[in-house]
Amino acid sequence: MNSFDLIVLGGGSGGLAAAKRAAKYGARVGLVEGDRVGGTCVIRGCVPKKLLVYGASYSQYFKIASDFGVEWKEARIDAQVLLKNVRNEVNRLNQLHIDLLSRAGVDLIRGWGRFTSPNTILVERKEGNVKKQIEIHGERILVAVGGHARRPDIPGAELGWISDDVFLQEQFPKKVVVVGGGYIACELACIFNGLGINVIQLVRGNSLLRGFDSELSASLYESMIRDGIEIHLCCQISSLEGEIGHLKAATNCDQIINCGAVLFATGRSPLLNGLNLESVGVKCSGDKVLVDINQSTNIKHIYAIGDVTDNINLTPVAIAEGRAFADSIYGNKPSHVDHSLVASAVFSQPEIATVGLTEEQAVKTYGEKNVCIYRARFRPMSKSLSKTDQHCLLKLIVEGVNQRIIGCHMLGENAAEIIQMASIAIGMGATKSDFDNTMALHPTISEEFVTMI
Ligand code: NDP
Repeated sequence: MNSFDLIVLGGGSGGLAAAKRAAKYGARVGLVEGDRVGGTCVIRGCVPKKLLVYGASYSQYFKIASDFGVEWKEARIDAQVLLKNVRNEVNRLNQLHIDLLSRAGVDLIRGWGRFTSPNTILVERKEGNVKKQIEIHGERILVAVGGHARRPDIPGAELGWISDDVFLQEQFPKKVVVVGGGYIACELACIFNGLGINVIQLVRGNSLLRGFDSELSASLYESMIRDGIEIHLCCQISSLEGEIGHLKAATNCDQIINCGAVLFATGRSPLLNGLNLESVGVKCSGDKVLVDINQSTNIKHIYAIGDVTDNINLTPVAIAEGRAFADSIYGNKPSHVDHSLVASAVFSQPEIATVGLTEEQAVKTYGEKNVCIYRARFRPMSKSLSKTDQHCLLKLIVEGVNQRIIGCHMLGENAAEIIQMASIAIGMGATKSDFDNTMALHPTISEEFVTMI
């Protein structure tokens, strides 16, 4: 039986980072992956999504280009070409990650792994009709298997897409129903809309992006509606029938919507199926693996990182957790991840990015009289020559007599790039006067963050 110091289950962002870092410290590492190396982020998430965002965003430029004197006969985005090029790029990155593993000295073991004892994993894969099995032994085991998209429990749910399916399409239909109001729903609704697809978004709550600063999500709602997306709030899909390409979606508002596809963006869950974790006594809550701050489960030599712990389901968090695990265990550098101030972005049109507390959370935590809100809402210069009513919104949440900045939020172009930099200052404890004492860089959108009164 092959024996390793560390077996990593899952070749997504977190698993790859942990495996390579542990191998760098001299550990013998085997990484088990049943699907494509790269995981959700590289193969069917962040990377192909962002490439589609770039492609779809050209439609925004087409709309206003004539106001800047640009002349053309016809401009359109060919989704078929875009999808093909995105797939090629994903294939390149998939191979790159395989090569990086090999260069790091990590053994890639193809197949799906499951625990057969606390230190052994049975890896199974199919080659044609032949099932191949190999059992491997690990002194330690890191569970980094990620998550999977959930479908709602309605008749015909299997006829709809989940986000994975979007990236497998050769071409998109003319009309798509998007179910959900979270990250994936908003991002993909905006992508489809940018590609000229008729989009109807069904949101069961009364706003988009529950948990985000409500002023930002309300502004995004206005922008998406203005851009032509039909959003139905407080509306749920109740059944789906028909065949691929010709679907009928029924809603609880007594509508029947004919469409080419329905996308379920109704949340994700850890991918525990088949791991056999229960047989070795690893404690889970619901379907997530429970870990302490060192990513350790209740079983001393078994650890878990990333989406399978359902803590903060973002790629950089999984990578940081994987590296902290390897540094602590194999590098003699004890460390753990601080989950308290994690910036995130929604790559909608326009983008939203955020770090720290929302206005609602700040008021709840510190009391209304201890919280000051600063905001700027304006039409960006890039849209000033055009007739569009596109606005951006910048917001600072400030607490206490020292005026510490505890939240920074933005809706508008390049929001994610701007908030990434702001999060450094906020992580260092910046106050409102630190922002005010920073000379503005003119003319930019982000200068408003240092000139707010
Ligand atoms: P979210 O949890 O963000 O959103 C799920 C949405 O689906 C919510 O609007 C939810 O409504 C709704 N919903 C859930 N169940 C049902 C149902 N049965 N019927 C109708 N609506 C339903 O999940 P996503 O799938 O969008 O994203 C999963 C995670 O992936 C995110 O939390 C994020 O961590 C990560 N992600 C990050 C991205 C980024 O950083 N840019 C991009 C994409 C994903 P309600 O609010 O009422 O519960």
